[in-house]
Amino acid sequence: MLQRLGIVTVGDLVTHYPARYLDLTRTASLAAVKPGSEVTVTGTIADINVKHPRPRLTITEIAIVDDTAAMVGVWFNQPYMASRFTVGERVAFAGRMEIEYGLKQMRAPFVERLEAEQRSDALGKVVPVHGTTEGLTTNWMRRLVAEALTLAADVPDPLPAALRADRGLISLRHALRDIHFPPDMPSAVAARTRLAYGELMTLQLGMLTQRHREVDSRPGCVHRIDGPSFARYPSALAFTLTDEQTAAIAQIAEDLASPRPMNRLLLGDVGTGKTAVAAAALTIAADSGTQAAMMAPTEVLANQYALKLGALLESLGIRWVLLTGSTSTTGRRTALEGLASGAIQVAFGTQALIQHDVTFHDLSLVIVDEQHRFGVAQRLALRGKGTIADLLVMTATPIPRSLALTAYGDLDTTYLRTRPNAADPGHITTHIVPRSGREAAYGSIRNAVEAGRQAYVICAVVDESDTVEATAATTEAERLKKRIFPKLRVGLLTGQMRPAEKSSVMNRFRSGKLDILVATTVIEVGVDVPNATVMIIEDAERFGLAQLHQLRGRVGRGEYPGEVLLFAEPRTQNGTRRMEAIVSTNDGFALAEQDLELRGEGDVLGSRQSGLPTLRLASLGRDAALVQATRTDAEALIASDAGLCAPQNRLLAHDMASAFGREWEWVTAG
Ligand code: ADP
Ligand code: MG
Repeated sequence: MLQRLGIVTVGDLVTHYPARYLDLTRTASLAAVKPGSEVTVTGTIADINVKHPRPRLTITEIAIVDDTAAMVGVWFNQPYMASRFTVGERVAFAGRMEIEYGLKQMRAPFVERLEAEQRSDALGKVVPVHGTTEGLTTNWMRRLVAEALTLAADVPDPLPAALRADRGLISLRHALRDIHFPPDMPSAVAARTRLAYGELMTLQLGMLTQRHREVDSRPGCVHRIDGPSFARYPSALAFTLTDEQTAAIAQIAEDLASPRPMNRLLLGDVGTGKTAVAAAALTIAADSGTQAAMMAPTEVLANQYALKLGALLESLGIRWVLLTGSTSTTGRRTALEGLASGAIQVAFGTQALIQHDVTFHDLSLVIVDEQHRFGVAQRLALRGKGTIADLLVMTATPIPRSLALTAYGDLDTTYLRTRPNAADPGHITTHIVPRSGREAAYGSIRNAVEAGRQAYVICAVVDESDTVEATAATTEAERLKKRIFPKLRVGLLTGQMRPAEKSSVMNRFRSGKLDILVATTVIEVGVDVPNATVMIIEDAERFGLAQLHQLRGRVGRGEYPGEVLLFAEPRTQNGTRRMEAIVSTNDGFALAEQDLELRGEGDVLGSRQSGLPTLRLASLGRDAALVQATRTDAEALIASDAGLCAPQNRLLAHDMASAFGREWEWVTAG
């Protein structure tokens, strides 16, 4: 039975933490409980009743009494509740107390049978409730855990004593006892803090060790940052760099000039101008007589780099090439030759860049855009084409700091927080449009096009591999073309189209030959058409917050403000909250924090999560302060003892190795 719960060892039992507690230190007498409040009460079972008022409806009622009053617990269609208890037993009920027909009642309360020892001094106790499985009662589980705790009584504490003292953390032994059998709720909280700290510390040590192995311990290219291209770069741009961009470039230049290989994450909301920062790094590589590669997750985006940065690089005398899945055979051959000989300094491209026949003369800088679309393995594959290439990872996914410090903990971070074009904060306005507002929304598109602007209509995706998605967008494009906008030029872009078709549609939209682009989320990543000002998103409630935010960042990128119209009629509470959140703020980071709370880290992390140890107690959303604390402490530990070889750090090293497991070893070895 324990095996069904994944419990095999004593250690598993000891870390099978309670799912909840019944706080009997604060139980109320039945007479004193206020209707509508969440409480724990205790009493003796006075009556058990099972009723069948209708076929297929069973109502189980268990009445309890104490010295002051009576109360009934009510369950629908759970007849087994009746057989689990007998009259005369003492139990605790936890739930919301209501008054029904003048009687005190709880709907489907959590019930716990009180043991003899709890009965004797019921007050002053917190009863842990551990997860169980069929055939195993919570009482049995408690006994097993208690037994395991006695076996683990002399478990050594992996956290060095000095560190524990600094952070005011209780010992592991103490924490394990109190998380399972706390004398009161504050003790349970202190125990949780100690154990969550341990989990996060292990995670930080793993990430920092990974970084140490990948870069810190190996010398990289010392780039030249006083070269001519880099010096002329700012004046070659069509705009003036913002102070924030200039600062980011300076930070990256410093990394590039240092022998320690760069491992940096550039985090910037959509439209914050990351591309201009990245391009500066390309000029530094060229000045240094080495090469740079910039990898995008989609062909559309890779083409856009070539288009926007190509001319700029040429004006600085830098030779570049574009390598994607649809590069012609001859084009590809010439490109490969140029890269192998060093005649070409910059390669833009998609995953086509990491194919094994692509070799570089001297690759010293790798830039990976929208990292969340790539796995760690792909990043390493491209990086491996240089000796120890400097790495710049860019993402528009606004990652909350606590996540950046953990999931991306092996990278240094630079944040771009302001949009160069967003002089006023209302640069993008977002509205929810109910079904009745559809006509008015189409009116917004007509007005925009009349004023010379362009618009997007985004159709929801149920699942990225789903061809239904393309059909929905295709049908919608037809409908809009025929019925709604017969006089306007409507184009279609879906993930299922061939790359050549995609770029042809994108080019027509970019050059103003299309007024409206009906698209699926293929346009989510980095598409930049400053003349587009209106976006309609169909079935908006089906999208995640981060995705909606990415999507709306496609408008309002130029001098004209953007207007985003979300067609949504959310049916769930969570859906409503998400829609409210997206309307209420334009700050991607604030949204990301909310997303983390609404969805939990699993979804937010995506592929980054694979290979990371699971957190049993710690939550990146709630424990941001602990995340920061463990980061600081882990950095200090690694700085003084990188291999964690000192006797007082040995147990930490052991914990880290077992938590990260096999996949991680592969990654670190790679
Ligand atoms: P993202 O961070 O989303 O990749 P981009 O690099 O595509 O953003 O930049 C968004 C838009 O802002 C582009 O049209 C770009 O040319 C423009 N831009 C970037 N930096 C500046 C600046 N300092 N001043 C004015 N416009 C800028
Ligand atoms: Mg970009």
